[in-house]
Amino acid sequence: MKTVVIVGAGMGGLATAARLANAGYEVAVFEARPQVGGRIGELRRDGYRFDTGPTLLMMLEPLERLFADLNRRVEDYLDLALIDPSYRVYFGDGTVFDSTPNIARMTREIARKISPNEVPGYLRLMADLSAMYHAVVPAFVRRQYDSLADLFTPYQVGLLLRHRLLSNLWWRVGRYVRDPRLQMLFSFQTMYLGLSPKDALWVYGVLTYMESGEGVWYPRGGMHRLPEAVARIAREEGAQIYLNQRVQEVLIESGRAVGARLASGEVLKADYVVINADAPTAYRELLPPTPYATRNFRNSCSALMFYIGYTEPLPHQLHHNVYFSHDFEANLRELFQENRVPSDPSFYTCLSNRTDPADAPAGCENLYVLVPVPNLTGEDARAAAPRVLQTVIERVGLKRERMQFVEMLTPHEWQAMGLWQGAAFGIAHTFFQSTAFRPSVQTPFRNCYLVGASTQPGNGIPMTLISAELVAQRILGTWGRKA
Ligand SMILES: Cc1cc2nc3c(=O)[nH]c(=O)nc-3n(C[C@H](O)[C@H](O)[C@H](O)COP(=O)(O)OP(=O)(O)OC[C@H]3O[C@@H](n4cnc5c(N)ncnc54)[C@H](O)[C@@H]3O)c2cc1C
Repeated sequence: MKTVVIVGAGMGGLATAARLANAGYEVAVFEARPQVGGRIGELRRDGYRFDTGPTLLMMLEPLERLFADLNRRVEDYLDLALIDPSYRVYFGDGTVFDSTPNIARMTREIARKISPNEVPGYLRLMADLSAMYHAVVPAFVRRQYDSLADLFTPYQVGLLLRHRLLSNLWWRVGRYVRDPRLQMLFSFQTMYLGLSPKDALWVYGVLTYMESGEGVWYPRGGMHRLPEAVARIAREEGAQIYLNQRVQEVLIESGRAVGARLASGEVLKADYVVINADAPTAYRELLPPTPYATRNFRNSCSALMFYIGYTEPLPHQLHHNVYFSHDFEANLRELFQENRVPSDPSFYTCLSNRTDPADAPAGCENLYVLVPVPNLTGEDARAAAPRVLQTVIERVGLKRERMQFVEMLTPHEWQAMGLWQGAAFGIAHTFFQSTAFRPSVQTPFRNCYLVGASTQPGNGIPMTLISAELVAQRILGTWGRKA
C-alpha cells in the first residue's frame, strides 16, 4: 500500500486525504493546530459561537463532487441552507439594498431602490456572467497546467477573445450598469480574494456570478462543520489525522519526497508528501532551497477581524451585511495602492445567529466583523484597530456598553497561522499569479505536491476543493499521465 503524509488539515489537505484514502492509499495528516479546518476556524466564548474565517459558502459544485466521488450524499453530513437575501448592503449615501439571487426580487429591488432604467443592464450582466462562468470553470479553473502551452490552446484563446476575459472588471461592469452603487455591488466580490475590483480582470466576474447568480449557502451549525465533515469522511476511509503536530521539514532525497520530519524530531517515511501550508511559506520553510523560496510573490491584502458578543438585538442586520465606504474609490486606492488602513473602510458583518439562534444567548448577537486591511508589508492594522472599531461602531450603530467582549485577529495572527506576510487570502490573483502562472500543485520535487489557496486554481473554499482534485488526479495518474 502506498503511503502519503499530508502537512496541514485545512480544507485542501482534508479533501486530498479523503480522496487518496478512498483510493486505497495509507494517509496520515499532521496538523500543527488543535483543530482541523485551518482558516475555517471556530471561536466559542461565554455562550457565543463565531466562525473566525469564511462565512459564505458559494459554488456548491466542488463540494458536491467531492461527496459524489466518495459515494456519499452531502445531506448525510451537512445541512446546507440558502441564505436569501444573500446580504444587506449599506451604501455610503444611505441607500439600504437587499441583494438576492432571485432574479424577480432583485429586479424589483433595483427598480425601487436604484432605478428601473438599470434593470435591463443587470439582466444582461447576469446572462453574460453566467455564460462566462460555465465556460471558464472547466477551461481554466478545473485544469492541470504543466506549461504555458496548456493555457493557450485554440479553444482557450477562442474563449479569451469571445468573452474578452482580460478586460477590466470595474470598467466593464460600468458598461452594463451606470449607477456607481450597482457598479460596486457587482464587482466588490474580488475583495474576497484580496484583490481590488479596479485591478481585476473581467474573468473574476465569475465571483459575482457565484454570489449573485448561484447564491450564498451556509452549513447549519457553522462553517466549521464543513472541514469537520470532510475530516469525518477521511477518517471513515481510513486516514489518520493527528492534531498539535507541526511538520518541521519535508524530506527530499535525489529530488524526490521521501517523508517528513515533525517538530518533535520524529521522522515519517512516505511515498508521497502533500503540503497544505501556504505555498510561499512551504517553499521558504519546509522544502530545500529553490527559486520559489526567494520569489517575491505579490500578496493579497489581509483582514482585521472583530468578534463581538453584543447584548442587545440589532434588528436591522441580516445574516450577512456589507458596508461600503462613503468614498469607495478612495477606500480602494488607500488599501491597494497606498497600502494603508483606509480612513473610512468598507467592511462586512455576519450574524450567524440569524440562521443558527444557538450561536448567541437569547436577546444577544454574535457580531463578526471583517475589515480588509493591508498585509504586513503595509500600515500596521493592529495599531489602527481602535480607530477602525470606532468606524464600525458608528456605522452599525453599536453601543459600547452592550459590547460584552471584543476578540480580535490582525494580520500578525494570520501570519502566525503560517500565512506569508499575514496575507489572509494567500498570494494575490494578479494575471501573472493566476491559471498556469500560479504555483502549480506539482512542486519541483517528484512525489511532492502543494494543495490549497496559494496554489492552482486559487483562493476560497471551492477552489481549494478543486486544488485537492488536481493533486489527487496527479497522484492517482487519472489525468492521462503518471505522477
Ligand atoms: C477572514 C477570512 C474570510 C474568508 N471568507 C471566505 C468565504 O466567505 N468563503 C470562501 O470560500 N473562502 C473564504 N476565505 C478563504 C478560505 O478560508 C481559504 O481559501 C481556505 O480555507 C484555505 O484552505 P487551505 O486548504 O489553503 O488551508 P488553510 O485553511 O490555509 O489551512 C492550512 C492548514 O495547514 C496547517 N499547517 C501549516 N503549516 C503546517 C506545518 N508545518 N505542520 C502542520 N500543519 C501546518 C495550518 O495550521 C492550517 O490548519 C476566507 C479567508 C479568511 C482568512
